[in-house]
Amino acid sequence: FKVPVPINEPVLNYAPGSAERSQLQSMLEVFRSQEIDIPMYIGSEEIRTGNKKPLNPPHDHQHLLGYFHEGDSSHVAQAINAALGAKDAWEKMQWEQRAAIFLKAAELIAGPYRAKINAATMLGQSKNAYQAEIDAACEFIDFLRFNVQYMTEIYAQQPPVSSPGIWNRLEQRPLEGFIFALTPFNFTAIAGNLPAAPAMMGNTVVWKPAYTQIYAANVIMQVFKEAGLPDGVINLIYVDGPAAGEVIFKHRDFAGIHFTGSTGVFQTIWKTIGENITRYKSYPRIVGETGGKDFLIAHKSSNAKQVATALARGAFEYQGQKCSAASRAYIPSNLWEDVKAYLMADLQSMKMGPTEDFSNFINAVIDEKSFDKIAGYIDGAKKSEMTEIIAGGNYDKSKGYFIEPTVILSKDPSSTTMCEEIFGPVLTIYVYNAEHFEEALELVDQTSPYALTGAVFSTDRYAAELATYKLRNAAGNFYINDKPTGAVVGQQPFGGSRASGTNDKAGSMINLLRWVSPRTIKETF
Ligand code: GLU
Repeated sequence: FKVPVPINEPVLNYAPGSAERSQLQSMLEVFRSQEIDIPMYIGSEEIRTGNKKPLNPPHDHQHLLGYFHEGDSSHVAQAINAALGAKDAWEKMQWEQRAAIFLKAAELIAGPYRAKINAATMLGQSKNAYQAEIDAACEFIDFLRFNVQYMTEIYAQQPPVSSPGIWNRLEQRPLEGFIFALTPFNFTAIAGNLPAAPAMMGNTVVWKPAYTQIYAANVIMQVFKEAGLPDGVINLIYVDGPAAGEVIFKHRDFAGIHFTGSTGVFQTIWKTIGENITRYKSYPRIVGETGGKDFLIAHKSSNAKQVATALARGAFEYQGQKCSAASRAYIPSNLWEDVKAYLMADLQSMKMGPTEDFSNFINAVIDEKSFDKIAGYIDGAKKSEMTEIIAGGNYDKSKGYFIEPTVILSKDPSSTTMCEEIFGPVLTIYVYNAEHFEEALELVDQTSPYALTGAVFSTDRYAAELATYKLRNAAGNFYINDKPTGAVVGQQPFGGSRASGTNDKAGSMINLLRWVSPRTIKETF
């Protein structure tokens, strides 16, 4: 049995006058004109606790999109029970049927839900139309379709030898217990994939999204339900992190966590799991993608305009709030003046404002906490003698959480903004002596604890190979002559190591294998 080989969902361009643009604009208007009331989804129930929290667009925080109902630890316990209750029937369902549900979800997003999921992402997370399209529509669809393909390949893997009178087989059992999916604000696709991937492999899930992503999470849940996902397979709850952790990580049936978020939270979770290890039936699977301080290093042979474009897009798309965003750059002295000139010109053309105006490239950062943190880094760079702000540097939260794309020039390759994750529209550049490429590679490798993505620009084959080798542990996704963002499912499986995660490559067979526990069966006739 073979499912058709998936292809990547084509990206729509939302050109003025296009059908997709007018559909999206109408959906934005509908969403802006109503106040929705978002429940938690546990088993077959929609739960409205009455503890209502407002949802506002980050770029227009006076506007009310609606409310979500916050739960407490009793809802976590209820969600775990619903997941455990749904497990048996879901596990017994033929995998072809499970595949059909997720393939249908992909078709719903590609068609009737496309405008809805994109509009929700634009308003709830302040992503522009293009960034929403490549995430909430295309990447999410790709995760679902490609994972179904990998799933069939996993089930097809069998021991190669069965001698006469013997049949050896491998059974890919789902994990025993429930999976906890803890998802970030910055990608709707990741929010959907983290619960969907374990569910696809026959597990049931308790899903807790970032509060700043609930507006789109609600649409994801509608898609799953309409696709025919049985009640209790994925349970969506909104509960404060520590309160949820208190119930989940002490539960005997906790079987694993699928996480994307900050390094600090992941480390705390890992420690908590360690402290509770004797409680669990099995060793839980811990799969996480965490922080990044992603680099771009240019060799003296590279093309200054290409480098500048990669920096502008890699650092400032979605306000730098991608784990993969280029946030530290190493530019050779011979190219610096040209790179600077091109970069400044690119920045001039980037308009900043609300997502509803499609001409805005830069929108708001996610919330006040992020805004204050990023502004703090910018203020620090203004004060330091080692750093100079050469573009942007202004911010204003009166209407929305707007921060200008900011470029910092650092004389010190180990300055704070050169090394720490900022998760905002801030790029720090260090200009190195063009004759000392190897030393610069050493700096790239040694000055940050992270290893998620990185890029080298070079027209010199030897230099590109040298960087590829020397930086082999500095990034899980490495780009030669391209920006370090925008990995495509099925093409560049995504994930990093060191402080950036367990490198279980989202949207790949490696990831899906984490959600099954194989049993070998030998039958003798
Ligand atoms: N996969 C995304 C990219 O390549 C980044 C995902 C993330 O921010 O977690 O840009």
